[in-house]
Amino acid sequence: MSDVRVRFAPSPTGYVHIGSLRTALYDYVFAKQKGGKYILRIEDTDRTRYVDDAIENLVNALLWAGIEHDEGVFLEDGKIVEKGEYGPYIQSERLDIYQEYIKILLDKGLAYYCFCSKERLDEIREKQRAEGIMKGYDGHCRELSKDEIKARLKKGESYTIRLKMPSDKEITFDDLVRGKITINSNEVDDQVLIKSDGFPTYHFAVVVDDYLMKITHVIRGEEWITSTPKHVYMFEAFGWEAPKYVHLPTVLNSEKKKLSKRHGDVSVSDFKDKGYLPEALVNYLALVGWSPESNKEFFTMDELIEEFSFDRVSKTGGVFDRDKLKWVNANYIRNTDVERITELALPHLIEAGFIKKEEVSEKYDWIVALVASIKDRLSYVGEIGEKVKFLFDNEIKPENDETLEMLRGEQVPALLDAMIEEVESVDEIDADFAKGMMKSIGKKTKIKGKQLFMPARAALSGQLHGPDFDKIIFVLGKQNILERIKYVKDNYL
Ligand code: GLU
Repeated sequence: MSDVRVRFAPSPTGYVHIGSLRTALYDYVFAKQKGGKYILRIEDTDRTRYVDDAIENLVNALLWAGIEHDEGVFLEDGKIVEKGEYGPYIQSERLDIYQEYIKILLDKGLAYYCFCSKERLDEIREKQRAEGIMKGYDGHCRELSKDEIKARLKKGESYTIRLKMPSDKEITFDDLVRGKITINSNEVDDQVLIKSDGFPTYHFAVVVDDYLMKITHVIRGEEWITSTPKHVYMFEAFGWEAPKYVHLPTVLNSEKKKLSKRHGDVSVSDFKDKGYLPEALVNYLALVGWSPESNKEFFTMDELIEEFSFDRVSKTGGVFDRDKLKWVNANYIRNTDVERITELALPHLIEAGFIKKEEVSEKYDWIVALVASIKDRLSYVGEIGEKVKFLFDNEIKPENDETLEMLRGEQVPALLDAMIEEVESVDEIDADFAKGMMKSIGKKTKIKGKQLFMPARAALSGQLHGPDFDKIIFVLGKQNILERIKYVKDNYL
């Protein structure tokens, strides 16, 4: 067992963004590769963003994706529980700890009470905006005397506690993706560490927790890179060794902008609900921002654990290409057994109104056949309703002129009659009969190849292309086939 300890530290905002899932994935894969531990910590100190059930959703999304943590927050029988030696793992349960640690910085003179009102801070901000230089807090309360602080605290004045950034200090850290980064402390604001409600800010809690939880590598989105100097300085102020940092490139949309809800699905549950397979989503996400040494595109989790490295994580944003994801997912669906796809398809078929809930067990074999007929053409299971729609409406509508033309071929009346005769010769169509039916009709009518299959397909589906024809025949069954042929004869011939 190595001492590598990484954490995924989401704020419970109600949904898990695809970009966060990728962070969790890299955390997990890295920890497993190094024989270390992967921890799930909940950063819920921003009470204004609190959402009910958010933790449950989060844990379930990670579980679904197969990104399982070793320590932290879990669900057991639907209840939130915490496991591990470094808890609590929910920041709102660690308030005493933050109070204890802020005292240390106050005592060392490295943090200070700030009594500035919201109005004053707004004023400074406005003024700076007008001047076009955003310098941040002006240090008004940096040098208050001990007596004054005491008196104002006694009066019950509202306060925050700020970090006292030293002036003109070079702060340096090594980022495993970007290399050495140095920032001058003059560019860093006196960050609020404890808010007026007594809660820590993210910046303070993250440092205290990463230290106490013995985190060795902080892996997170690049939007945090400008905050890292503050964190690194706090580690120094406490006299602690800072962890290693890894800032991941942002997940972008096709217009190279940050992937946001405005541009369609971005939450893990959206993809789950649409019928993406977790292995496919994880596989594809791994490649958004990381490239393997080979051109390989398909990875199991074990292979990711084997091959992943921060050396090959890009410095620039990775584009989340929805078409590519669909392509990867379609591959996974093709290689997944029909029973599992059927289970995923059932809610969609029920919702589309093609199957009633109470009929599922009675019709199960037929449903499996239905799914089997279309499975290899699905990009995601949720599109099954759209794709099998034609099997549920016997009033055939040729999808285009070419299809209609096909139905008007001179051999078609004889072909349709032969089909009727063939179908009527059995009580029920089974899979074997379905397989042999067109061959037998071909023999009897001497109609061959395209002339045989294309109009037959057009008559039964309204389409010239689509699922295997023998599967369509089997899924439709005798009665539907007869109705369809009659409808076509009556309307298009
Ligand atoms: N709570 C932060 C977030 O939701 C975590 C950032 C970090 O990993 O340090 O992005």
